Amino acid sequence: MQTPAVLSLGSNLPFRGMDSLRILRSACAALGERLRGLRVSPVYRTAPLFFTAQGDFLNLVCAGDWEGDAEGLLGFVQAVEAAFGRDRAGEIPKGPRTLDIDIALFGNEVISTEDLRVPHPGITGRAFVLVPLLELFPSARDPVSGKSYKSFLDCLPRDGVEWYAHGTGI
Ligand code: AMP
Repeated sequence: MQTPAVLSLGSNLPFRGMDSLRILRSACAALGERLRGLRVSPVYRTAPLFFTAQGDFLNLVCAGDWEGDAEGLLGFVQAVEAAFGRDRAGEIPKGPRTLDIDIALFGNEVISTEDLRVPHPGITGRAFVLVPLLELFPSARDPVSGKSYKSFLDCLPRDGVEWYAHGTGI
């Protein structure tokens, strides 16, 4: 069975000569090999939120249909992160990274296990996820509260989230 999945990607470190924009676009190409009909939002440049002594991030959201369960998707996105130099053991929590991929939404499923929380608990408080998410799905709603994501975004400061580039390189 196929489930529509929404992923949030971010990068603020280069990897093997690729800058963050190239990493994000290449990662989307890799994700598109397993997520059918992948759609990619524009890329936004965003100021770091938690650990602020680091460079700005580039962020985007992409969405496609996944054949299998959410745990299988988590394994796939972690393999894509690793292919682009992600090294959890060597990094500062919330610090600089070559590629971070979160499962923002998995259909309307609500999942809370040791390894996986979906909807990702950060979505509703992060303009850098909500802005690109709403570009792809303007009327999307939080499966837990039923509230529109636009209503969450309306309560957040938008500064620090700037349009940067097209997501697919066009
Ligand atoms: P991060 O450092 O943000 O990449 O966090 C990765 C960890 O968060 C992994 O060990 C995952 O098991 C866990 N995790 C929990 N929920 C999610 C989610 N919705 N998407 C991605 N990782 C998740």
